[in-house]
Amino acid sequence: MERALREHIIGWVVERAEANGGFVFREELLSFRHNGEKLPVIDYSRGIRNPRALSATLSIVSSASGPYDDVESEDGLLHYAYRSGDPWSGDNRKLRVAYETGMPLLLFRKEVPNVYTPVAPVYVVDDRPDERAFVIALDESFRFFGNLDTLSEEKRRYAQRLARQRLHQPAFRTRVLLAYETRCTVCRLHHGSLLDAAHILPDGHPDGAPTVDNGLAMCKIHHAAYDQDMLGVTPDYRVQIAWRLLEEKDGPMLRHGLQEMHGQTLHLPRRPRDRPHRDHLAHRYETFLQGV
Ligand SMILES: [Zn+2]
Repeated sequence: MERALREHIIGWVVERAEANGGFVFREELLSFRHNGEKLPVIDYSRGIRNPRALSATLSIVSSASGPYDDVESEDGLLHYAYRSGDPWSGDNRKLRVAYETGMPLLLFRKEVPNVYTPVAPVYVVDDRPDERAFVIALDESFRFFGNLDTLSEEKRRYAQRLARQRLHQPAFRTRVLLAYETRCTVCRLHHGSLLDAAHILPDGHPDGAPTVDNGLAMCKIHHAAYDQDMLGVTPDYRVQIAWRLLEEKDGPMLRHGLQEMHGQTLHLPRRPRDRPHRDHLAHRYETFLQGV
């Protein structure tokens, strides 16, 4: 029963997030209903949600800059500090039930006030009274790995890869889409589910950090065109379409979607610090020029 309800809630949150572009609004999470009754998915004021009807914690909120002690550690696992008060009762008791029963829960990364990137399901995979923390993993398999203090190199790499795919990349997409008010920087398409956060300098490049100034909100077509150097962006924010595409003759998508974008100026975030870094653009534009 409880597991089915949790899976239903997780499915609902994931669906909402997909429709929005990878994030959910606080209002949506507070308005969730089950059998006609309100069942908020996050707490009104605290970083943990323990509905009375559920034996184990439903959701936790993590914030890189907020008033929480949580740490995303190097090993790709989240060290979630015990809630204040008695370690054996209240919130901590319900987190421990999640640990003992393996119930899936939701992790919400707070990116800006009232907007969260959901990561679900996640699992409580260790209880560390001496550290006063629970260890949260993005994959159930970590429950069965034994001592997580001494993870093998292979499992550590697996955890890091999961953290990148399921935590850091989605969080990057949320921050970039919010900065661009959920519009493609090239064509202004305003459908979150059709938008990505493109990296200017690729992930893995020494300066390719997942920060908003190394990102561009782009629709799926423009993102793919950018990654394949069919579309370039100059350091002064102009769109360039590769010559080979400009000379081609084809239907309306090529004409309106790509050729007519040639020479247009990007639609940029309002806040200067969110705008693409000109050095990053310049660096990337050189690669584009080599391809045309
Ligand atoms: Zn577009």
